[in-house]
Order: sequence, then structure tokens, then C-alpha cells
Amino acid sequence: RKEHIAFLGLGHMGGPMAVNLVKAGYTVAGFDVVPAALEAAREHGVPTVGTAAEAVAGADVVLTMFPSGQHVLDAYRGAEGQPGLLAAAGPNTMFLDCSTINVDEAREAARLALDAGHRSADAPVSGGVVGAEAGTLTFMVGALPEDFETVRPMLDVMGKRAVLCGEHGAGQSAKICNNLILGVSMIAVSEAFVLGEKLGLTHQALFDVASAASGQCWALTTNCPVPGPVPTSPANRDYQPGFAGALMAKDLKLALNAVQSTGVAARMGPLASEIYDAFAAEGGAGRDFSGIITDIRDKSGK
Ligand code: NAD
Repeated sequence: RKEHIAFLGLGHMGGPMAVNLVKAGYTVAGFDVVPAALEAAREHGVPTVGTAAEAVAGADVVLTMFPSGQHVLDAYRGAEGQPGLLAAAGPNTMFLDCSTINVDEAREAARLALDAGHRSADAPVSGGVVGAEAGTLTFMVGALPEDFETVRPMLDVMGKRAVLCGEHGAGQSAKICNNLILGVSMIAVSEAFVLGEKLGLTHQALFDVASAASGQCWALTTNCPVPGPVPTSPANRDYQPGFAGALMAKDLKLALNAVQSTGVAARMGPLASEIYDAFAAEGGAGRDFSGIITDIRDKSGK
């Protein structure tokens, strides 16, 4: 039989992910602390329950999709008089956390789950709300190989690709390393376009050269920060996300935390974190992260 899944956190991402599991024939018990999220999920066909403990009772898998690591650890352990999920679950339950959280928190969550006699996998995603709705997310997974095999069919329903990156915490590690590359490269591409403007170079000329030369990267050829060269990029729709500035700022903060805790001599990652924090605070939180180019242009004078 297909696993019974307790799906906790029915927000922007979790809601549509739960819908896809239901459509694929999984037995889902959904729960969210916000009544409106619960209601929306129910309207989309996700069976919901009134408490986390009810959702977890009898579940083979406890899937969490929360805003932060603190939410995950609090829910696992229990906080503010609420019983913890680890204690509420039956023996040997699979704890599958798809939230994007600190690597250290993911390892801590796994350790707590294993100590309580359960199994654990961290599986953060990329692909955004559009990918969650379409079932085309990419999952980056940190788990033991046999546990990866257990969760893989579910991940295949919610996404198009699941990569086992290593043991507990490796999924989060892969995600923040990728997004460090992305954050830094978007700033570099944007600086180059603004510099090109100052030098009298057309956007198309720079694009034609760099996209076929060593400046080639996703930030340029898929998410091009100027309108024109790539008609599907958010720049062509006034920087509607896409990938919102607030999320890039969040992911770079997680990368910064990992840089600091490991002592890596990184300079660009921490700087990108600072730049995207300011972008998010100054109106970019809800815009696509490629809108950073307008900040750079605005601060460059006439
Ligand atoms: P969201 O805030 O829309 O949803 C999170 C939900 O978790 C909320 O509805 C909240 O009420 C619920 N929640 C919090 N604590 C809970 C608890 N103890 N029990 C039950 N429910 C609880 O956030 P989101 O956009 O869905 O993102 C979820 C995660 O996915 C985040 O870690 C985010 O970084 C990551 N992510 C988001 C995107 C995106 O495009 N939105 C893309 C990739 C990854």
C-alpha cells in the first residue's frame, strides 16, 4: 500500500505539493497552524485535521514544509505546551523535511529524529510555487540511501528530479551552495550590464557575446536581468517573480551562516548576502531577485 503522509505546513509551497500527493493516490492528513491555509488546502482536495498530533497518528511519513529551521526543531521537539511530533509518531516513522533551513539545524533535526527511533531525510526544493503546482520541483536530498529509496516515489510525484546529495544535511548543503553561485552570478551579470550601458554597449550586444563566451551562466541566459534578450525572463514583466528577492536574501543568509560555521575564506557570498538583504529591505522582497540590476543602475548616477 501507499504510505500515509502527515503533511504539515500547507503554505505557498506545501499546499500545492500536498494536492499532488493526494492526486497520486497517497492518503494525506494535512495540518497548518494558520486556519486560512488549512481551509485553502481543503478546498483543493487535501483532507485536513485539527491538530498536528492527529495528522501524525498512524502516519508512515511526516512531511514538513515550514518557513525556517526553528519551526522545524520546535515542531519536532514540542514547544509552547504542544506535544512534539517525534513523540507523537509511531516507531520508525520517516521524518521528511522539505523546508529550506540551516545545515546545522537540518543535522540537529535528523539527530533528534534518529535518537527518537525514527528515520530522517532533508529534501529542500527549488522550482518555486510554479514548480510546486506543476509537480516539477527539484529535490536535493540528504539521507541514508535506503531512506532515499523510501521517499523517492513521493518526491517523484511532487517533482521531476530528486538528487541524493549525501547523508543528513547534504540536501541543505547542496541547495545553499547552488544559491550562493546564483546570488553572486546575478550580481555580476547585473553589474556587467550596467557597466555596458555606461560604456555605450547595447544589451543585445553584450548578451550575444557573453551568452556564447565564458560569461555564460543561468543568471544571463535564462533569468537575464534586462528585458529583451530572453523574452521569458522576469525583467520583461517588470521583475514579477520568478524567484523573489526575500527568498534569495533568506538562502544567502543560510549560506553565510554555513560559511561562518565552517570558516571558509569566502568573500563574495557574504557580500551577496549583504546586497540582497538591502535589496529585500528596500522594496525588492516581492520582486524577482534579478531586479537587483535596477538598484545598481539607480546607485550609479547619471
Ligand atoms: P509559507 O510561509 O507560505 O508556508 C509555510 C507554512 O508553514 C505556513 O502556512 C505556516 O502557517 C506553516 N507552519 C509553520 N509552523 C507550523 C507548524 N508548527 N505546524 C504546522 N504548520 C506550520 O512558506 P513557503 O513559501 O511555502 O515556503 C516553505 C519553505 O520552502 C521555506 O523554507 C522556503 O524557504 C522554501 N522554499 C520556498 C520557495 C518559494 O518559492 N516560496 C521556493 C523554494 C523553497
